[in-house]
Amino acid sequence: MSYHYRSWGLNPQIKQIACVLNGATEQDLAGPHKAQKLLAYGCGSSYGDVCLNDEGVLLDSHRLDHFLNFNPDTGVLRCQSGVTLRAINQQLIKYGWFLPVTPGTQNVTLGGAIANDVHGKNHHLAGSFGCHVLKLGLYRSQEGSIECQPDKNAELFRATISGLGLTGFIQWAEIQLKKISSPYLRTEKMVFTGLQEFDALSNDADKAYEYTVAWIDSVAAAKYRGRGVLFCGEHADSSADRRPSKKRILSIPFNAPTGLLSYPVIKTFNLAYYNMHRLTSSKALTYYEPFFYPLDSLGHWNRLYGKKGLYQYQCVIPAEGGVEVVEELLAICAHYRQGSFLSVLKKFGSIKSPGMLSFPRPGYTLALDFRNLGESTLKLFSALDKVVFANQGALYPAKDARMSREGFRQSFIETERFKNYIDPLFSSNFMRRVII
Ligand SMILES: Cc1cc2nc3c(=O)[nH]c(=O)nc-3n(C[C@H](O)[C@H](O)[C@H](O)COP(=O)(O)OP(=O)(O)OC[C@H]3O[C@@H](n4cnc5c(N)ncnc54)[C@H](O)[C@@H]3O)c2cc1C
Repeated sequence: MSYHYRSWGLNPQIKQIACVLNGATEQDLAGPHKAQKLLAYGCGSSYGDVCLNDEGVLLDSHRLDHFLNFNPDTGVLRCQSGVTLRAINQQLIKYGWFLPVTPGTQNVTLGGAIANDVHGKNHHLAGSFGCHVLKLGLYRSQEGSIECQPDKNAELFRATISGLGLTGFIQWAEIQLKKISSPYLRTEKMVFTGLQEFDALSNDADKAYEYTVAWIDSVAAAKYRGRGVLFCGEHADSSADRRPSKKRILSIPFNAPTGLLSYPVIKTFNLAYYNMHRLTSSKALTYYEPFFYPLDSLGHWNRLYGKKGLYQYQCVIPAEGGVEVVEELLAICAHYRQGSFLSVLKKFGSIKSPGMLSFPRPGYTLALDFRNLGESTLKLFSALDKVVFANQGALYPAKDARMSREGFRQSFIETERFKNYIDPLFSSNFMRRVII
């Protein structure tokens, strides 16, 4: 079956064949596609080409949405890999259980969360998603179904956590959820005037709060550059329960005209956003959805970037001297007059993931969204790369559509070991472009 499959950045735009799976047994997975190169596809919430495979077939997992087992005493959940984080929240928050780690959108499948080893606002305390995976069932084209866990088929387990879909198809997984008392969070926001101030606030907030992340104004004039807002939160106790207000989900119906997100527009938006937070109160009781997933309330917001789509540039820079490096990266963006209105900064903690190609590591992670302006955007990225790699930084595959092979090898020192676990029948555009 052929659909219009794409990644969140709408970039690259390729023709893609796909098959919607109705089951995840060996027969379902082996059957009709024997000679074709395969790749699992979740929600397509990756920005670039890790979820695309134009020389083969995508195995669309959205019907693999069954909950297989849940123990309400221990919070251990087993699901098929196409179950979304949204479904897990909807089903289990009412019983006082929450995702141990969640990215900034709920439109992510369990398989996708594992394959990119996603991170969230609690990285400093909880590590990445892979730290909470207890077991998984993996279909491999030669061996069939294999059960993997930290102490059984351990190396295949490590390769599959952050394995970018290349070690086979994750049929199901078992994860450890986190006990909470309320779907509400006690939240606080703190405005800062520059990155040094961010650093001091973030270090203190990481001791006081479970969740921290900052938005920064990446296009402010040089003397204000790096100002922003630090958002913090922790789960409220049960006395904080109340009815959430009704959500209104708006959606962008079509690609916006080019120019909508021009540099002056982004500058104006950032100034207004910064001032709005400066002027509004700092402590609140916030329902989990607007706190964790503010962007999900605007459906298809990627269309705001026009029909050529967007790139996200997400890097991590080691903590020592990292603030100065982030300052340098922002100065480069200003020099190229390319702005991002979604600029996110977070300090990762030191909990190590089991994943061989896991992206999070101690230091500062900066994520910047850019309209795809072709050559000029790519030139900007080359300039950013020089600084990132000169400082032993790394780039995040889940957000990438253009990193070099050299950049990948430098970012992931276990690449050669990982290659031993790639299933010969599985491939992706990202793999052909960057890994092999
Ligand atoms: C608004 C927004 C905010 C985001 N915020 C964050 C964030 O805070 N932190 C973060 O880490 N990421 C973030 N992301 C990225 C997103 O969380 C990841 O790209 C995630 O992996 C997407 O999951 P998916 O189900 O859409 O998988 P897809 O994008 O469809 O696929 C991702 C990878 O997973 C593989 N895969 C999917 N299912 C399976 C399976 N069953 N078996 C084997 N491999 C499989 C695919 O082959 C592919 O390599 C964000 C994305 C968006 C759009």
